Amino acid sequence: MYSQVVVNVPVLYDRVFTYQGEAPLGSLVQVPFGNSAKAALVVGHSFTTDIPDEIKCLGKALYAGAVWLSSELLSLADELAHFYLCPRGAIIDLMLPVPFTAKEVSGLKRVKREPVRLDETLTRHAPAQLTPEQIEAIEQVKQALTKGQAKPHLLYGVTGSGKTEVYLNAISIALSQGKQAIYLVPEIALTPQVIANVVHRFGEQVGVLHSGLSSGERARAWQKVLSGESQVVVGARSAVFAPTARLGLIIMDEEHEQSYRHEGGVNYHTRVVAQLRARQQGGVLLMGSATPSLEVYSSAERGGTKLLQLTARPHGTNLPEVNIVDMREELRQGRSGLLSSPLRQAVALGLQAGEQALLLFNRRGYAQMSLCRDCGHIPTCPHCDVSLRFHAGVRLLKCHYCGYSMRALGECPRCRGQQVHNRGAGTEKLAEELRALFPDFVFTRLDADTAARKGAHQKLLTEFGRQDSHILLGTKMIAKGLDFPRVTVAGVVDADSGMYYPDFRAVEESFALLMQVAGRSGRGTARGRVIIQTFNPEHYCLRLLEKHDYSGFYKVESRLRRKLSYPPFGGLATLCFRGRDQRRVLEAAQAVGELCVGSGAVVALGPVAEAPARVKDIYRYQLTLKAKNRKTLQELLADLRVRITDLCTSSARWYIILE
Ligand code: ADP
Ligand code: ZN
Repeated sequence: MYSQVVVNVPVLYDRVFTYQGEAPLGSLVQVPFGNSAKAALVVGHSFTTDIPDEIKCLGKALYAGAVWLSSELLSLADELAHFYLCPRGAIIDLMLPVPFTAKEVSGLKRVKREPVRLDETLTRHAPAQLTPEQIEAIEQVKQALTKGQAKPHLLYGVTGSGKTEVYLNAISIALSQGKQAIYLVPEIALTPQVIANVVHRFGEQVGVLHSGLSSGERARAWQKVLSGESQVVVGARSAVFAPTARLGLIIMDEEHEQSYRHEGGVNYHTRVVAQLRARQQGGVLLMGSATPSLEVYSSAERGGTKLLQLTARPHGTNLPEVNIVDMREELRQGRSGLLSSPLRQAVALGLQAGEQALLLFNRRGYAQMSLCRDCGHIPTCPHCDVSLRFHAGVRLLKCHYCGYSMRALGECPRCRGQQVHNRGAGTEKLAEELRALFPDFVFTRLDADTAARKGAHQKLLTEFGRQDSHILLGTKMIAKGLDFPRVTVAGVVDADSGMYYPDFRAVEESFALLMQVAGRSGRGTARGRVIIQTFNPEHYCLRLLEKHDYSGFYKVESRLRRKLSYPPFGGLATLCFRGRDQRRVLEAAQAVGELCVGSGAVVALGPVAEAPARVKDIYRYQLTLKAKNRKTLQELLADLRVRITDLCTSSARWYIILE
């Protein structure tokens, strides 16, 4: 008997090696490789081999031969390798809950199940009565589950319309049919409420899988799913690989979120993986959003995805009133500071009425850069091409890309000048302004800095949920999935930077984010109010947001996207090149560009330096390829892969992001 294995040597991730002996499919073994022993994952078996001489024997089984990847996951790895043009071994590495190494993770013995602690701001009880729209949506999912139908479903429901209740009911139905369910959320740290809800409803049957777990914790949680002890898996994008043998349902909440994209080496979109899995195992993929991605909504329009709708909030509360504030006018009136007078007034009124407010400012720190007014010096990171951000609380200048930091002494590090001026505010500065404006109230600031310590994120949200604090301010961390019924005012300090970010999805993302923020207000019985500050009040994104008009937005945005042949209306691939020698990285990227164009059927844009051009001393260039459709690009790149690697050898690492 022979076993085929993938060995943990990244440059050989494309290859399969044959050894004599048998170990379970999907288990890890040691194999002699060159002069050393390597870890290998068993991907196949055969009785014969055409390389009979000198064939080596498998070494010791790791983890006592425990199986990690089921045969379904192994064939999923194959499909993904083909779809994304990346080595199968890289996907296996990504799927494995334990490190792909010959050294075993300790502490995998079964431990007594620790009870999951439940915080009562955070759990919610099943409503006494479902709304007719919820009942209809659940009925449709039930039919699909019963038939084992593979067509994906989109639950398009306005913010606060009760999508969660539909998900929870769908899970109940799947369980009653003896099937397992995976419940995906955009970022586990951002959604403690979701976990609390699911655990509250399904108790011991719930397993949580996410990248924040230690290897030991992750491996144990994984084994419980494999054994069928965990029937419901909750997690961020990596949980889409959960080893559910009887998979009936995959829920993908906030389907439009960018965190469902995995980047670096293997570049996959969770939606694609979920769709492949659902098809493979006869399950149903249920995606939900108030602002579906253009990909999914256009598929629903064409009938490839079944559309389910929740058009109203269960309490009958109206969607919040949205006001756009023209900051040019505010400046003309001589007002300074981050908050316009309408936003100040709205917050003041809300606080006086005993309500809470939420303010989005999607930049952390105190200032974006420090400028010496004597010599013009702007401190930059020695390892990255960015200016250092001033953090007032800790008196540090920090790089937001590599973590480099230096003391901020209040004087210019170059000329010792005393006129150091901070430009471009962040959340810390906003907090300072709020303290001056509303001295009698308590604030919670939530951003990557305040949430850095383990458990801090949840603590801050609990504090706000208990109404120990009155204003929640922060980066986009505060916009997602939170349900605080006392919030009636939501403010967006700066709507412009997101809309004008140089990415073809920038406006779509902004619309979704602003809609999410708006959706945080007025979720209880009182109507909410939303104030959006901008220097571009005429922008269609804001005009349509004012009317909560997603379908209007979809029409405009899809027309623009179609005109430029951007996804989902055209094929797009980004080839990323990385290396320490700037000139050689650029030259390699240029050579690849010529090769691709020479092969026809595509347009190559670039190469251009990415922003920032250098991170952690690595130079970054990218080449964009456009073609009529995805398939053209996939075929072309599959043909050229080996030649591209040859062109890059020793100058640059490269990888493909194929949309
Ligand atoms: P969404 O995910 O669509 O933004 P949620 O699922 O968070 O909305 O629900 C919004 C609020 O409505 C929650 O507080 C939830 O408990 C409540 N809710 C959901 N369904 C009902 C219902 N049928 N009756 C009353 N309240 C409901
Ligand atoms: Zn840096």
